[in-house]
Amino acid sequence: MTSPAFKNGDKVVYNHPQLGRQRGTYIAQTFPDGMEGLFSLIHVEPFINDWTVPTGALQRAIGTRDMVAGDLVPVSLLKAAYEVEFLGTLWTHGDSGLMTPYVCSVVFGNGLALARIFTTNQRPNYHLVRIDSSWTEVEVSQNWDDILTAIEEECGIAGECLDEPCDNCRDTICKCGEDYSADREFPALDARDGGSFSIIPYTDVINVVFGKKRRLALAA
Ligand SMILES: [Zn+2]
Repeated sequence: MTSPAFKNGDKVVYNHPQLGRQRGTYIAQTFPDGMEGLFSLIHVEPFINDWTVPTGALQRAIGTRDMVAGDLVPVSLLKAAYEVEFLGTLWTHGDSGLMTPYVCSVVFGNGLALARIFTTNQRPNYHLVRIDSSWTEVEVSQNWDDILTAIEEECGIAGECLDEPCDNCRDTICKCGEDYSADREFPALDARDGGSFSIIPYTDVINVVFGKKRRLALAA
């Protein structure tokens, strides 16, 4: 996942190897001598000296404590509740098959709501991406490219990645071979022909997650 851009004053949570989660304030990017990679300067109360930490170990803080997106509704619970097989009719093939949605680990904002991401070539199967509970269709549209990129980074791009562009389709991610089928490649993403989305609000997510938990508890 691409690291989120922090700005001065942002509340962040740093996962310290010995001390565990430390809530702090982001100051700036920093470039320590002889170190490769991205580093950030953060201020952690009550320490007087600012800390230089790997930017990849920082997460945006939510609320007033050392909580980060995903704490309230962990991805494992979402997967248990939403990765349920269903019988879908394929858009591209005209026949039906069993499909299972895929819950991505990427988080946008507080991650309390979900966006169903349908690509034209893989619908009605879909990816679920955690989004901020304040997001409307406007924010999802504005972040559409970033959402698709995050799914590709986690799940891969459908189609064989070739060293040279294919003679036929001129693409290094060739999808014209006989073996290729967009639905079989899922959850690797085929977003060539665009897609659509719908939002599952926070209250529905909580109902589904806790309803699922209750059913599992009753079955045990
Ligand atoms: Zn090709």
